[in-house]
Amino acid sequence: MHIVYKSEATRGAHWQRWLAQHAPDIQLHIWPDIGDPEQVELLVAWQPPENLMRTFPNLKALLSVGAGADQFDLTQLPPDLPVVRMIEPGLTQGMVEYVTFAVLGLHRDMPRYFQQQRAEQWQTHPIRTASQRRVGVMGLGELGQACLKQLVSLGFDCAGWSRTPRGISGVRCWHGSDQLGDFLAHSDILVCLLPLTDSTRGLLNKQLFAQLPDGAALVQVGRGPQLHEADLLAALASGKLSAAVIDVTDPEPLPAGHPFWQHPAIWLTPHIASATQTDSAVAALLDNLRRYQRGEPMVGLIDRNRGY
Ligand code: NDP
Repeated sequence: MHIVYKSEATRGAHWQRWLAQHAPDIQLHIWPDIGDPEQVELLVAWQPPENLMRTFPNLKALLSVGAGADQFDLTQLPPDLPVVRMIEPGLTQGMVEYVTFAVLGLHRDMPRYFQQQRAEQWQTHPIRTASQRRVGVMGLGELGQACLKQLVSLGFDCAGWSRTPRGISGVRCWHGSDQLGDFLAHSDILVCLLPLTDSTRGLLNKQLFAQLPDGAALVQVGRGPQLHEADLLAALASGKLSAAVIDVTDPEPLPAGHPFWQHPAIWLTPHIASATQTDSAVAALLDNLRRYQRGEPMVGLIDRNRGY
């Protein structure tokens, strides 16, 4: 079987060597050295080439090297072409670590203490335990559920919100727009782990912030266009929100001079909450390739109607 990889070159070379050793029947070509395009069945990419189906006339599926597929313009792809996102343990673990770090940092008032340090101010504030802190996670998929498992084990009072009903041990679950208000009222720390779709674009806005408890904090690890930046700045200025940890912005990189760079209540990271891990991802990729060969659905298949 012939597949093409079009993304970061070092990872591609590693995957090529690994597959040659563990699955010699599979030939991974690295873009732009694609071999005979007529033979290519699968493309593994971050960004597909323009004229995808003209480049690979016998393509059977498009696989994302990342956790989302929102970077693909799904409207430009044949409607029946399966699109698959990356689900792999290394990427999930990275997100669990980042979200746990962010929630603990906000829970223990670290943005405020770092501001006090810069002002040479030795001042204490009351300490709450995890059980007295309500954490709400938007998005109860692969990543949201893994983060909640860790947060529950730390003793946080956890809630979750999804599109359809979900049940997670130790977590109060809400779903749908009708129940969004109840969920938000229960979220002292709100974590966004939603995919970017037409219904989540711009969702983190002033109407949503207004429904959070006063002084709540935000962890934004979904996608940049979900956040209305001016509304966040206004909510921080008014004290409605106390702090935010922002890993994704729109655009990326964040332009020079943007108010997030210097904001005392914002911790900003350059979209590093998690990433596909070369070693663990190639095993997940091979598992999907074998599923494809057996005619089984691949793990991480995008529902083109839902957009995720
Ligand atoms: P999944 O597809 O597994 O889960 C998505 C979850 O979001 C589901 O629970 C789904 O609900 C819920 N959801 C989707 N749309 C809505 C909506 N309109 N209202 C309420 N809930 C909704 O995704 P993952 O957990 O694997 O990943 C989530 C996102 O995390 C990715 O799409 C990506 O944007 C982001 N990410 C960010 C990274 C970073 O480094 N910052 C790294 C990796 C991912 P339901 O359960 O009902 O289907």
